[in-house]
Amino acid sequence: MTYRELQKFAEERLKNNGVEDSSFDALCLVEHFTGKNKTRLKLEDNSEVDSEHETAVLHGVDRRIAGEPLQYILGEWEFYGFPFKVGTGVLIPRPETEMLVDFGVKLAKDIKSPVIFDLCAGSGCIGISAAKLLPDARVYCVEKSPAAFEYLNKNIGLNRVDNVTAVMGDIFDGLKSFGLPEPDIILSNPPYIESDMLNTLQPEVRLEPMEALDGGEDGYIFYECIASRWLPFVKGALAVECGEGQAEKIALMFETDEILKDFNNIKRVVIRRKSGCSETCGAEG
Ligand code: GLN
Repeated sequence: MTYRELQKFAEERLKNNGVEDSSFDALCLVEHFTGKNKTRLKLEDNSEVDSEHETAVLHGVDRRIAGEPLQYILGEWEFYGFPFKVGTGVLIPRPETEMLVDFGVKLAKDIKSPVIFDLCAGSGCIGISAAKLLPDARVYCVEKSPAAFEYLNKNIGLNRVDNVTAVMGDIFDGLKSFGLPEPDIILSNPPYIESDMLNTLQPEVRLEPMEALDGGEDGYIFYECIASRWLPFVKGALAVECGEGQAEKIALMFETDEILKDFNNIKRVVIRRKSGCSETCGAEG
């Protein structure tokens, strides 16, 4: 088969088996398993693919058809322009989470050597991106799942950040149990789905770790924990991501009314500033 035929074949097979973004997924899989980028594939579209690569692509297509998320098959995904290793046991970074990084970075620019915490860090996408953009910051990424923790460490290495510390632990133990410095800024995208709703999620999402999604019976247990065990020690500001329809209640918990909407106009991020951290800190521009 030529590269062009392989891509077409992969796309058709994905499409006929109900995969939504068949053309995008086929291109990603062909690029990944042949080691050729889009431009090379165009230039060489009439050349024969060697059989080893062809088998690898077709195996990837089968995994996708079986419901595995594309990102797990590729093993790496981009967030804020940086690469992150992902796979079974770690949540896939979502584009809307980049808002949290934007906010944290704007705010931290006004603080000298800021101490930043990423709670429920998972892959580390939030904390590591912030650390890349703020070389004088000290970032602590807290994660309790051993599988996710492994990815977190891999991603610290992959992104060559020496200002990030991976901290294994449960945020329910509260800041004091960790013996770490008090944070200027806390950023967090904790699990926020109601336990009862977990089995209604898309099949792909259900292959992501339940403990990264399960926000307890009402979906708010992590926010309650952050409000009572972490917020009291924050010096600058705290920003959390939340699910659709949750922002108002979280804003009440954090005694704030500052809410940011994402690109789909969903209230997505709740911000709580401490005194001295005025509305102009971290403001646009
Ligand atoms: N902080 C990670 C992310 O935003 C993981 C979040 C989680 O496990 N709930 O992708």
